[in-house]
Amino acid sequence: MTVTIEELPFDAEAVALANEQWGCNCGPAALAAVTGLTLDTVRPHLGQFEEKQYTNPTMMAKALRSLQATWSRLYECPAAERAVDPTYPHRGLVRIQWAGPWTEPGRPVAARYRHTHWIAVRHFRGRHDVFDVNAMEAGGWISWDNWRDSLVPWLLPQVEPKANGQWWPTHCWAVDRIDQAGRYVPPKLRARLEVANKVLAMFASDTRIESRQKGWAVTWTSEIGSRISKQWACRGNDFYPVWNHKWARGGTASIALSQLVRWLRRLPVLPLASWRHWASDKCGLVDPKAVELLRAGGYPEQVNCVLCHQPITGPLDWWHLNDVSGPCCGRAPECRQKGGGR
Ligand SMILES: [Zn+2]
Repeated sequence: MTVTIEELPFDAEAVALANEQWGCNCGPAALAAVTGLTLDTVRPHLGQFEEKQYTNPTMMAKALRSLQATWSRLYECPAAERAVDPTYPHRGLVRIQWAGPWTEPGRPVAARYRHTHWIAVRHFRGRHDVFDVNAMEAGGWISWDNWRDSLVPWLLPQVEPKANGQWWPTHCWAVDRIDQAGRYVPPKLRARLEVANKVLAMFASDTRIESRQKGWAVTWTSEIGSRISKQWACRGNDFYPVWNHKWARGGTASIALSQLVRWLRRLPVLPLASWRHWASDKCGLVDPKAVELLRAGGYPEQVNCVLCHQPITGPLDWWHLNDVSGPCCGRAPECRQKGGGR
């Protein structure tokens, strides 16, 4: 039997620190737990949370969209007087309504909004679990029975002294984990990655650029059919990665790949003219469609010299010294003084 070990990517100390620093409470913590992300990773996706210090369902939905999570609304009944046969997700977020004077008949529905609480739920190893930020000392995820019979009776008198002990869910949303192997890639950069991989497939069909926690990685299939994954790293140049002999697609392919990775890293790159050359009959590295794809994706037609910062119109060289690398004009390094550059 394969046992999936699911670690919570934060501990009690991280929650205490995040609470001190930006007010992290039940909503952001439940979101992080269910997606399998750290508190710091979800923080920029919380919208107005830091001003408001609460997470209403609209804000939670926005955060899920911002994280590009896979999720769906299973059950929503915010104005119910009690539990109305809710559908709990296999894995997901649940917003709990604590009952009290604010849920009495005749009270405006808005009165009850602040008396709510976010938890995450999951079926795990045949058990129904609840993640509650108040259970961090017990590991965060506890059994549903333990939550209902021990945590709630202990918690309620502290946070909701007027609560009557009843509670029910108002929202049940199914939410998937977000793969931790990858780093979160914002939509604009994701679009750029898609273009880069389409172009890359034209000259190395089994190779892909993928996002990793530590940065961009290049993956391809080895001779024996296994998948190889290497972090992009060059030594003493910018065009040939240290593992280039293993990838072995030739010098031009390596230079082209280096430009795609640099483009994703927002580093200076060779202009689109280089891709036109690589798409020409003479070179034939990529299909002419690559030039159009790159241009439409925002790849620069015109580039500036990394030394004098002037647009390069004439012959072009590549500069690489210390931390400065990229295309430079034919007059480098004299252009540095003449052009008034740094
Ligand atoms: Zn220059």
